[in-house]
Amino acid sequence: MLKEDFHVGSAETSAMESGLMSSRIGLGFDIHRLVPGKGFRLGGLEVPGELRTEGHSDADPLLHALVDALLGAAARGDIGEHFPDTDARWKGVDSRIFVEKAKKMVEEAGLTIGNVDATVFLERPKLGPLKKEIRKVIAELLQIDVRNVSVKAKTLEGLGSIGTSKAVAAHVGIMLHEPPGAAP
Ligand code: MG
Repeated sequence: MLKEDFHVGSAETSAMESGLMSSRIGLGFDIHRLVPGKGFRLGGLEVPGELRTEGHSDADPLLHALVDALLGAAARGDIGEHFPDTDARWKGVDSRIFVEKAKKMVEEAGLTIGNVDATVFLERPKLGPLKKEIRKVIAELLQIDVRNVSVKAKTLEGLGSIGTSKAVAAHVGIMLHEPPGAAP
């Protein structure tokens, strides 16, 4: 291969020259305490059982991690800045509202959503078919194809607060795309 075959400019410059979009990654994490109850929200859906999550809103750790991933990719702060748990407006609120607002913020920054990869950390119950349903909810919320949404689940092998069902957590990675020349 000749030296001239290599791109010597910055990634940004080469993306601009070729007319390609550049990408921005976002990462989100959240954890909520589990206490005795009658089920909890996860990815916008109800997980039945004898546990509930504690929190100010509907305490959905997966959607909260998704909000932070969206905001992070756009460098727009974090969920606590936009939706503080000291604000009565967000008490008991459906976290899908936070996702819709965060989506609007990234779109206003000129960004489009590529794909989402999420992992839920939960000892029990087993999520099983609910994972597929959660993928659909997230795809609908973000208005992207369900093939661009991945939801995985892991137990903690009985270890620590999650492993002993005292907590449920979620990690979310997201890819956003920006057209050439856009400055979010
Ligand atoms: Mg939370």
